[in-house]
Amino acid sequence: MKLLFVVMDGLGDRPIKELDNKTPLEYANTPNMDKFASLGMNGLLHVIAPGVTPGSDTAHLALFGVDPYEYYTGRGPFEAAGIGLEVKQGDIAFRTNFATINTEDIITDRRAGRISEGTKELAELFKNMEIDGVEILLVAGTEHRAALVLRGDGLSDRVSENDPHVEGQKPLEFKPLEDTPEAQKTARVLTTFVMKAKTLLSNAELNKNRESQGLPLANYLLIRGAGKVPQVPNFEEEYCLESACVAGGGLYKGVGRMLGMHIIEDSRLTGGTTTNLTAKFDVALEALQTYDFVFTHVKGTDNFSHDGNPVGKMKFIEKVDKELYRFLPENFKNDLVVMITGDHSSPCSFKDHSADPVPVVIYSPDCRVDKVEKFGESYAAEGNLGHLLGKHLMGIALNELRLVHKFGA
Ligand SMILES: [Zn+2]
Repeated sequence: MKLLFVVMDGLGDRPIKELDNKTPLEYANTPNMDKFASLGMNGLLHVIAPGVTPGSDTAHLALFGVDPYEYYTGRGPFEAAGIGLEVKQGDIAFRTNFATINTEDIITDRRAGRISEGTKELAELFKNMEIDGVEILLVAGTEHRAALVLRGDGLSDRVSENDPHVEGQKPLEFKPLEDTPEAQKTARVLTTFVMKAKTLLSNAELNKNRESQGLPLANYLLIRGAGKVPQVPNFEEEYCLESACVAGGGLYKGVGRMLGMHIIEDSRLTGGTTTNLTAKFDVALEALQTYDFVFTHVKGTDNFSHDGNPVGKMKFIEKVDKELYRFLPENFKNDLVVMITGDHSSPCSFKDHSADPVPVVIYSPDCRVDKVEKFGESYAAEGNLGHLLGKHLMGIALNELRLVHKFGA
């Protein structure tokens, strides 16, 4: 038996007036999800803990059974791993932007005009760089995004950032956030690094071309989100499941990679609300041939929430539902456990994450079916899974897979 785990980002919502006081998920026409709900077990998931609003990073750790309170050290390491950097325990990782700075040292564009081409070549300028015995690794991600890793002895993640988070200001100074030689050294290395980077980037061919075209230069690096790479459990060893991650966003691939999942790289997987959902679920279906556990992440739901667009979110959920026919019991010879949920709620009225629990459904061919017939927040509250913590989800899934996770004689 295999397991498909579908996570729709920011799925949970609150009742919306224009949608007959239903949530986007409840209002959406979702025959496939409803089938899993009616043949499966339903409940409400407090992804981290009741009343705690999850970030997407901590939420995914919890969903994979890794307690974020024990292991989470900041977003940087996951972003770096998601871009493809093989981060090592003890590395200090940061989120980084290519940005534009003018001759008066004022940040004029925090995203260098959302530069879309050439950042990989810019990152090449930093190859084999070392400062004070610290190895510098910079990798470009999508658009203006990049990840920075400092590797070496005597480093700390207790340093401030240089990103003022607004334009029209000078970058901030890196400062140690604690009085230790490690934090001081890290701040010093970062300060030297951004100075060197400014010179290297300003002289880069790409920026000369951008200047002649009147485009914002990618001549500065804004660095934030320091995190020490944690020693996380290996998902495959922990659960004895050959695991694959089907996701477009770097953060989700990063969580998967750090937990030791196989990352399926396919150009069709990226795109948020414009993701090719058919391609994504084709890839997931193919992955199920090889892997026991296939995590499939869908980002678009959360993007519509952040835009405050419940109708868009509802229609997007319907599109996801259409693609789930592949995994219905009749198409899978009763050999697949399907688990569907969100990583957190993102009510359209909040335009942000909330602590509201998310609906979850777990279907297996011989599970204890409850009386719930539709997939949705208020229906799930009537289900036999009751209220769950995110970190307990994998254990319940293993029980459906008949993989014993025993405690006691
Ligand atoms: Zn999320």
